[in-house]
Amino acid sequence: MSSGTNPAAKRTQDAPPSGLNEVRCGHHGCVHEPTENVLTYANGITLARTAGCLTAVTLSISTGRIWLLFAGLAIHCLGDVADGTVARLRDEETRAGAVLDIVSDRLCIAVYYLSYGHLVHAMLLPIALFLFEFMVLDAHLSLAFLNWPLRSLNYFYLVDRVLYAWNWSTPGKALNSGALVVVMLTTRSPIACTGLVLTIGAVKVLSLVRAHRVGIPAPLGCASAATS
Ligand SMILES: [Zn+2]
Repeated sequence: MSSGTNPAAKRTQDAPPSGLNEVRCGHHGCVHEPTENVLTYANGITLARTAGCLTAVTLSISTGRIWLLFAGLAIHCLGDVADGTVARLRDEETRAGAVLDIVSDRLCIAVYYLSYGHLVHAMLLPIALFLFEFMVLDAHLSLAFLNWPLRSLNYFYLVDRVLYAWNWSTPGKALNSGALVVVMLTTRSPIACTGLVLTIGAVKVLSLVRAHRVGIPAPLGCASAATS
């Protein structure tokens, strides 16, 4: 390094833009391109299924037709499977799409459960606990994948297999988002639902502790320089 060069500035210039490493590892789940196309069929399906779910649930509230509430839930569930399937089949998995999917899920789940809780007050305790777990703890955990060069949280096993198994494997996802609605509609037991939500919440707390012990990396360098 020549004399007179600011070491910090030199380090910033040498850092890869946006903190991505430049290793061509061959993993399908790792990011290898600096930009991504967000105008994809998968993202279109995500937006459409979210609008469809929101429309059905709000129409259910305004008209009192409960079947529309469950239609909204069905649109959310089927659409959530469809956008992920299309993204994989068309190789359209993008980080922006993954974030869109995560935030769209929160909106659909929130309006469904709040509307259902308004109808079935006995379920308000497990619903409130679940909303805190899903909207806060799980949202923070799910968005953490952005701190690694991953295409989505579906490839988090490349970072940590335990966190992946607990949260984003097929059983992990089933526990996270599908189990409560099944138990709620089949048992109609607030105690069973509360017990399930506390179990899910415990998994999330343990996951957050593990994630922060593993260490969530921060992108290094100058944010302004990375965009120029
Ligand atoms: Zn890789």
